[in-house]
Amino acid sequence: MPLTLFEKIWQRHVVVEEEGELLLHVDRALFHEGSSHAFAKLEQQGRSIARPQQVFAFNDHYVPTTGRDKGVNGIANAEIRNMVIQLQTNATKHGITLFGIDDPRQGILHIVPPEQGITQPGLLICGADSHTATHGAFGCLAFGIGASDMMHVMATQTIWQRSQKTLRINVNGSLGFGVSAKDVILAIIAKIGVAGGTGHVIEYAGSTFRTMSMEGRMTVCNMSIEAGARAGMIAPDETTYAYMQGRPYAPKGAAWDAAMMLWKQLPTDAGACFDREVSMNAADIAPMVTWGTNPEQGGPVTGAVPNPRDIEDEIAAQEAASAIEYQGLTPGMALTDIKVDKVFIGSCTNSRIEDIRAAAEVAKLGRAVIPAWVVPGSQLVKRQAEREGLDKILIAANFEWRDPGCSLCTAINGDQLQPGERCASTSNRNFKGRQGTGGRTHLVSPAMAVAAALKGRLTDVRELMKGA
Ligand code: SF4
Repeated sequence: MPLTLFEKIWQRHVVVEEEGELLLHVDRALFHEGSSHAFAKLEQQGRSIARPQQVFAFNDHYVPTTGRDKGVNGIANAEIRNMVIQLQTNATKHGITLFGIDDPRQGILHIVPPEQGITQPGLLICGADSHTATHGAFGCLAFGIGASDMMHVMATQTIWQRSQKTLRINVNGSLGFGVSAKDVILAIIAKIGVAGGTGHVIEYAGSTFRTMSMEGRMTVCNMSIEAGARAGMIAPDETTYAYMQGRPYAPKGAAWDAAMMLWKQLPTDAGACFDREVSMNAADIAPMVTWGTNPEQGGPVTGAVPNPRDIEDEIAAQEAASAIEYQGLTPGMALTDIKVDKVFIGSCTNSRIEDIRAAAEVAKLGRAVIPAWVVPGSQLVKRQAEREGLDKILIAANFEWRDPGCSLCTAINGDQLQPGERCASTSNRNFKGRQGTGGRTHLVSPAMAVAAALKGRLTDVRELMKGA
């Protein structure tokens, strides 16, 4: 029987089935400072980590993005400093690998594992962050879990799950000038909605994804959760293997050849059935921007803030009205008339080398007229960008070049918006207060974020680049 990519991985990981739930083997578990509850529960029950070599920890959510030369002692806020130290203590105690604050490989838990070759096709990966779906870009099944499930994973290297439905999203054709992977996923979410993937695992298929870089595929899979999906995935291919080969944790020699034989069997078989399918043309996708307070509330930058009275669905109309009020906007105003106070280029959605390159390309066209931060996703990305001279381009254009971490994506390390401040952000969530209490977020691509920084308002990057 023809099988989907998801079904092939799922079936390979079932240990036992009981009353409709399946116990699945977990290949990799990823933690950050916020995982302290899972460690505490483990210790309360007097248990230890079953497979420490398959567990990895990352200092990312709480690390500051400036003053890092002083290490952990340079963190002024005692609460934040303790969170960073606690993860170090737990990692040492349980014998798990930590990519800590002083590690030259430090970075976000969805940026570092792909860089290190920890993320591989066919694996089942659980992470203590909902954007673990990012890793699905390599043709693995990856999803975020809470503290109770994480404790179970720690103690047994397994997890109980119910089966998921499958949704294939087909996007075909070439992306237009100034359109990026971020615009593709924002356009998908605008089309299917924030509940469009609920109860499903999404497979992204079609020529647009086949020709996309691994960085772009990670951006797309990263935001699957914003469409309500359990996970998102893209079948592995030559682009995947080329990205992985030679990375520290990737298999070598005969092990690589054996792995390739398995990986090449993973793509969805011809004739396999999905519970749902959605199709889009890449040529119809424009640079996107969100106007509201969930990732579905967005559209092409050439559009306008909607009038809730024009929205037929009563609940959607109420949600739009509430979002417009919170965001301090007026129905009908052009999106390009929205003035911005701050720009953030970073997060596990858009802080890879390709994102920094795209940002620098646009930054060459002017100078930021508002505070604008670039926060690379890892030390490796940072050093690569510096080797390419991208930091100099960005600094010359009045951007702040910071150290790696989650930073303004989730605003728990001290980097945050002030009440009422408006940010064009390359992160993945525009919920009320996500970037700081009272802060207002507009999700965009890196190129669009830089365009906003140069103009001080949301701007169509294509117009800016045409004039170059
Ligand atoms: S960058 Fe944001 S979404 Fe990504 S891991 Fe950090 S907090 Fe989570």
